[in-house]
Parts: sequence; structure tokens; C-alpha cells
Amino acid sequence: MNHTAAEFERAFGRPPEGVWRAPGRINLIGEHTDYNDGFALPIALDHALSVAAARRGDGAVRVRSRQEPGEIEVAVDELEPGAVSGWGAYPAGAVWALLRRGHRIGGLDLLVDSTIPTGAGLSSSAALTCATVLAATQLYDADTDRISVARAAQHAESEFVGMPCGILDQSAVMLAERGHALFVDTRSLRTEQVPLDPAEHGLALLTIDTRAPHTLVGGEYAERRNRCERAARHLGVAALRDVAPERLPDTLDALDDVTTRRRVRHVVTENERVTRTVELLRAGKLRDVGPLLTASHTSLRDDYEVSVAEVDTAVDAALAAGALGARITGGGFGGCVIALVDEDRVDTCADAVREAYHRNGFTPPETFTATPSDGARRVLLPADSR
Ligand code: ADP
Ligand code: MG
Repeated sequence: MNHTAAEFERAFGRPPEGVWRAPGRINLIGEHTDYNDGFALPIALDHALSVAAARRGDGAVRVRSRQEPGEIEVAVDELEPGAVSGWGAYPAGAVWALLRRGHRIGGLDLLVDSTIPTGAGLSSSAALTCATVLAATQLYDADTDRISVARAAQHAESEFVGMPCGILDQSAVMLAERGHALFVDTRSLRTEQVPLDPAEHGLALLTIDTRAPHTLVGGEYAERRNRCERAARHLGVAALRDVAPERLPDTLDALDDVTTRRRVRHVVTENERVTRTVELLRAGKLRDVGPLLTASHTSLRDDYEVSVAEVDTAVDAALAAGALGARITGGGFGGCVIALVDEDRVDTCADAVREAYHRNGFTPPETFTATPSDGARRVLLPADSR
């Protein structure tokens, strides 16, 4: 029997009607571009979160998690932002977002279980909202496609939880495919599956959970997002995505504020780095992506100012130990670093990061190699759940 289904039965005294699995993600490149209508290139991980679910006739939503204490219970018709706080806001918000988008969703029992570390920048939050949206829509026969699921999940996180996120995480979770990176145009949500199999090139994507304590994340994120939107208005474009790289010098001259100039420069150059990375991957030149990753990090550190000491230490140590490129991945202020490394240097690189952490007195990092994996899907049907 499926492990999550067994946990569901223990918690709620009956088998679930299905189990939905949603992966975590890392972003290869394209950071802080999604809320500027730009480009990103995430991959789904084999770390994943599962939601076992069954309908309830009384309109109640009950949620338990194997990773978090307490049971959330709320009536579907009492769902509104603020009605549920803490971790339960993610699954409750997912149901609320579907109702707000006109779907008929009734009561649910939900059991959450996950191997994605939370708050590490691997997007456990989008995995939770996407898995819940998928479960609810499939159980209640709501007519949705994968992009609508991603949009509903984003709606939940930005309007119900209160984190004004872009669409990057949810599109990665919903649309990624094994053996590929997902090139996302966040304006149109047009995507392209770009082949990415590091092992084929004798390479690995070493991922380092920096364990840096996340502080001020929401506020710093919202401040940057607002500043970008103001800059776009000032420049007379719909979004910073519309600033062509060749017009960057003139564009920067048109901005008075030094900080705004730096933020705009990051967004415009980062979009360009994503398109160059995609071109290299299409041409089978993964090794050449290394310097673009490092340039992305420098831009995020100096122009976007979202790095912290633990992150820079991991990036510098990985590069000194022979990584072809390394960068912070995710929104910043902690989270994970990825390094493109020759397969036979993965251990050397990881050890070098651990030693540098030890010298600086930081909490030891966790490391793993990322394998491009599949997006969210139903993994268990009712007939299998006994
Ligand atoms: P990230 O998405 O990078 O992991 P976030 O801060 O965006 O970090 O989301 C983490 C939050 O998502 C957790 O604090 C918790 O509220 C919720 N969450 C993630 N995984 C689980 C889980 N297995 N059970 C319950 N809540 C979870
Ligand atoms: Mg998140």
C-alpha cells in the first residue's frame, strides 16, 4: 500500500480516494524575473510532497501533515484570507483559490507528507498548493489544465497566504519533465522542454542547502517587486521584461535612483542570461553554462542584494574547488546554492563547502545532486488505495 495512503487511513479512519505527488524545484537560472514578466529555467527535483485526499459530504476541510503539528479544520464556505494561519493556510488557500475562480469544490480530508525540506528555497510551498489544487479539482471534476492549476496555486500563495510570489515555482511544479529544464516565458506561460541530463556530460548539479536562517524574506521580496513595478511605470513599459538588453545603458540613464538602477540592471541582464543558457543547452553545451551561473550570482549579490554570508561562502568555496559555475537559487536571503560540477569532483566540492562553513562557524550545510524530474501528477487511484 502507498505510504501516504496508509497515513491517511490512520489519520482519518478510511482510505483516501487518491494520492497526488508534487515535486520540489530548483531554478537553474532566471531569478527575480518572474514578477517582471521575464524568463526562468527551473527543473523539478525527485524530492516531493504527497497529498492523500478524499471528499467529505459536510463541506468541512480537514488537513493534517506528517511534518507539522495540529489539525486544520475549516468549513469551505467560511474560507477567506485570514481565516487560517500557519501552514494550513497553504492547503486551505488552495481550496479558496479554486472557489474564487468559480469552481465547485466541497469538503475534503487531506493528509500531507513530504521529503522536501521546508523554507530551503526548494519550493515546498508550491508543491503543497499545487498538490492540493490537483487533488481538489480531480476529485470534484473541475475542468482545469496544468497551467490553470499553477495559476490557482499562485493565487492561493499570493492572496491567501500573503506571499506576493510570481508564477515560477508553480509552473515548475506543474509543467517540468524528467530529463529536461523548463524554459518558461512567465508573461505568456509559453514553455519549452529543454533537454538537460548532466550525467550525459559527465557533470552534476550539486545542490547545497545553505541552512541560513530566513529572515525578512516576505518584506524584502515585496519591496523589490514594488520597486521593479514602479521602475517599469517610470520607463513607460508594461514590465521590465520589455527593456531590450541593447537599450540598457540608456534605460539606466533615465533612472535617478542608484538602487533602482541596480535592480533594473539585474532583471534585464538576467533575462539575457536565461536565453543564452537555453541556446547553449539546445546546442548540447552544458559545460559552457557555468560562467552564466556565476554571473547570475554576482548580479544577485551586488545588484539585487539578496545574498547572505552563508550563500556567498558556499558559492566561493564551490568555485575554488573547481565548480564550472555556482549561484544562489530561489528568492534569496538563504535557501540553496547550485553548482555545476564535474561528476568526479562532487565530493571534493561538497567537502570544500563544508570546510568553509566550519571555518566560519555556520550550521553545516546539506548537499545532494539534483536530477531533472517530472512535474506533479496523481500517483494513486481509488482502486489502488486499499
Ligand atoms: P519553500 O517554499 O522554499 O520551502 P516557503 O516559506 O515558501 O519555503 O514555504 C514553506 C512553508 O510551506 C512551511 O513553513 C509550511 O507552512 C508549508 N509547508 C511546506 N511543506 C509542508 C508540509 N510537508 N506540511 C505542512 N506544511 C508544509
Ligand atoms: Mg515557497
